[in-house]
Amino acid sequence: TTAADQLSRSALLFLSRQSNLKDVATRLKPFRQLASRFIAGETLEEAVDAVRALTAKGLMASFDHLNEAVRSPQETRDEVRHYQRLLARIDQVGVKANVSMKLTQCGLLFDRNLALQNARAVVADAAARDSFVRVDMEESAVTQVTLDIVRDLHSEFGEPHVGAVLQSYLRRTEEDAKALCAERIRIRLCKGAYLEGPDVAFPDKKDVDANFVRCMRILLDSGVYHGIATHDERMIDATLEYAARQHLPKGAFEFQMLYGIRRDLQERLAKEGHPVRVYVPYGKHWYPYFMRRLAERPANLWFVMRNLMKG
Ligand code: FAD
Repeated sequence: TTAADQLSRSALLFLSRQSNLKDVATRLKPFRQLASRFIAGETLEEAVDAVRALTAKGLMASFDHLNEAVRSPQETRDEVRHYQRLLARIDQVGVKANVSMKLTQCGLLFDRNLALQNARAVVADAAARDSFVRVDMEESAVTQVTLDIVRDLHSEFGEPHVGAVLQSYLRRTEEDAKALCAERIRIRLCKGAYLEGPDVAFPDKKDVDANFVRCMRILLDSGVYHGIATHDERMIDATLEYAARQHLPKGAFEFQMLYGIRRDLQERLAKEGHPVRVYVPYGKHWYPYFMRRLAERPANLWFVMRNLMKG
């Protein structure tokens, strides 16, 4: 990565948190067009259609109703109801899908106990339907409380119904991986998508990648069903190589990728017999999610710029 990439990455992550910019940007057509590559639609039914198409290709899914903008207890209850409707719809349609959810959506930023109660309501519903809730990981300020809540839910509902996410850019993650594996909590391992300082996160990509491989091995050694979430072929090859060396069967873990990114790779791995789950984000509040995707690949921004200039 060049210095310019680093700079645009930080700038885009900064902009991802500016809600006034959101209102302007989300009205621009080229911006919306590019977003539609990464977002499955604004409604639940659009997301269901996207997941049906994935199912037809042998891919599993995890629905994520995007909404990091919740500010009131009432809005968090609306999110819970939305997830309950979503879980019912998944059952009805009969697609191989679970759900992903953020604790900020449940009220974590203003009431920790409310967040736990809301998350519990969603996981209870998922457990009753024999489904699974992945609690996404957000900024490092909430890592500990997020893991604490997942632990609470895990002890109440059990391994098959709730799991955590760890980010290999965080210095603490190797220790977290060991602890969660010992407790038999399912982990999604990813690199991490937020703006973090060098005190908590590795500033160099090569350290993030090295830590990803170290943590991946801890996960694969644990005998728990985890998710390896990356589009990085070097990480995927390292995972396949390690799994073969440890004689793990193909269904011992799953690969996970984001909607709209490396579809070729998603389909290839599925054809080779590996479980592959695609994370399918949808909803009206797609701006911060989309900006994080732009930050991962600032080159995407040129697409928006070019089309804006064309008018
Ligand atoms: P990178 O080294 O960033 O990318 C490797 C290659 O992938 C690139 O060369 C490119 O070909 C392709 N690629 C990656 N990103 C893009 C993009 N935006 N546009 C086009 N091509 C791209 N992060 C969190 O912090 N919390 C979470 O809960 C979380 N959940 C996730 C769930 C899933 C299923 C996945 C796949 C990712 C999740 N992430 C989450 C995001 C993750 O942390 C990374 O930011 C993201 O996956 C990019 O890292 P990478 O592993 O693909 O590797």
